[in-house]
Amino acid sequence: MARLTGRTVLITGAARGIGAACARRLAADGARLVLADLDGPGVEKLADELGQVAVRADVTRTQEIERMLEEPYRRWGRLDVLFNNAGVIRVQPLLEVTEAEWDRVLNVNLRAAFFVLQAAARRMARQEPIPGSELRGKLIHTASIAAYRGGNHLMTPYSASKAGVVSLTRSAAQALAPHRITSNCVCPGAVETAMWEQIDREWGTLEGLAPGEAWKRRIQPIPLGRPERPEDVAGVVAFLAGPDSDYMTGQAVNVDGGLVMGN
Ligand code: NAD
Repeated sequence: MARLTGRTVLITGAARGIGAACARRLAADGARLVLADLDGPGVEKLADELGQVAVRADVTRTQEIERMLEEPYRRWGRLDVLFNNAGVIRVQPLLEVTEAEWDRVLNVNLRAAFFVLQAAARRMARQEPIPGSELRGKLIHTASIAAYRGGNHLMTPYSASKAGVVSLTRSAAQALAPHRITSNCVCPGAVETAMWEQIDREWGTLEGLAPGEAWKRRIQPIPLGRPERPEDVAGVVAFLAGPDSDYMTGQAVNVDGGLVMGN
């Protein structure tokens, strides 16, 4: 039997990149999925391919969070795992960060991450334990190794938002342990996704680098010697979603080829 057979999982930011790779992996492991994203057509295409459920939702909007969370309860009567993964970035020198950019990045990456986890945890706290487990629910968030070292000199709001996600992970772990809900996060490194294409473009424009040069600089020091693939994150998310991690909570797990050892 696959390790996630029967577990119900909601993934935000599921249309592409890390979220999509996790959707494929968790579906292959037997989970039942609700795939949510701002990109409605993108998430519907993936859900059709995987035989899963799609919801178009902007996680910064309270009503859309509620609608998205109703979906697994309407279909299956419960939500076992939330993968709180939607995120955005902007590459900008610190001296040029505007209030609008700060607000946009923090709004998606930190404020929405909190209200999605809160809305999920309120429901999980009222449900019966996950079949075969002593837990009522599991929360997994996507932070980043940018949380620890300020990312790089061009990612101040993003890095602050991800440090906030690590903090949320731990606050939620403490506050929700009495409800038998765990909270952990993954901290990816430099992953080959559309987000990194954007970083390469914006960083290159700012510093006069040829396309691909910023990416090359970022991946050069990775101890394991190759760029990170979304599937590298998906394996760890599958572990955090499954029964083998039921005794883990409050942890930030680096999945970065060794870029940051410890935190
Ligand atoms: P991506 O840009 O490829 O995918 C992000 C997805 O989130 C997109 O499908 C987008 O439509 C969705 N999204 C954005 N705003 C949303 C909103 N308001 N509501 C709903 N969905 C929304 O990025 P990715 O690389 O797959 O990143 C996924 C997560 O991993 C993010 O939280 C990101 O910060 C984090 N991360 C990425 C890297 C990396 O190197 N790519 C490294 C560390 C952490």
